[in-house]
Amino acid sequence: MSILSRAEFHNEEKAYEYVEARIWPHGATCPKCGERERVSKMGGKSTRTGTYKCYKCRKPFTVKVGTIFESSHVPMHIWLQAIYLMCASKKGISSNQLHRTLGVTLKTAWFMSHRIREAMRDDNHFDFGSGGGVVEADETFIGKEPGQSPRRGVGWKMKVMSLVDRRTGRPKALSLTICAKIPSCRYCARMWRVRLLFIATRPATIIPWVASFPPMKL
Ligand SMILES: [Zn+2]
Repeated sequence: MSILSRAEFHNEEKAYEYVEARIWPHGATCPKCGERERVSKMGGKSTRTGTYKCYKCRKPFTVKVGTIFESSHVPMHIWLQAIYLMCASKKGISSNQLHRTLGVTLKTAWFMSHRIREAMRDDNHFDFGSGGGVVEADETFIGKEPGQSPRRGVGWKMKVMSLVDRRTGRPKALSLTICAKIPSCRYCARMWRVRLLFIATRPATIIPWVASFPPMKL
């Protein structure tokens, strides 16, 4: 079966069920008072899909409260389609493309992609090796640097440095935008210096430092 034919991409009820199962793994929870017991789904004809009522604080709520779907009139199954497209497209997807594919206005597509990207953001500024933990570091060359053409050596390839915090198992990959027009010892030396510094005791301070590398003058 095609992924796109899954019910949550077409049926609004199923789409809500899909999201609810993820946000409320232990059953519907009132976002205002946290009540889990005295909560029931409202089933009236005029009731909007996925509306629950909390009998403790007497307020209605949906799974959208406090999520990227809050105060949006876009149907949930369209949201799920947008999320799928954004996550499954290898090179990402533009708001314009979302607008054309999903049949929503450009403004809506822009709003959705903003919120989805916001949800994807990894804002957990985690200090690698914090508390004296061990950080593994390695570097490699992948593909080619934008605007470079293949030639002898590795100067034209994209330089990627990866880190793994051994305690938490969290990885991080950095693309080092060091402009190395020719494969030079200076560049290699720099790589090694970065590596050695990472292995040293204060890796968290090195990440911004690597990111701030100026292009190499040759
Ligand atoms: Zn409540």
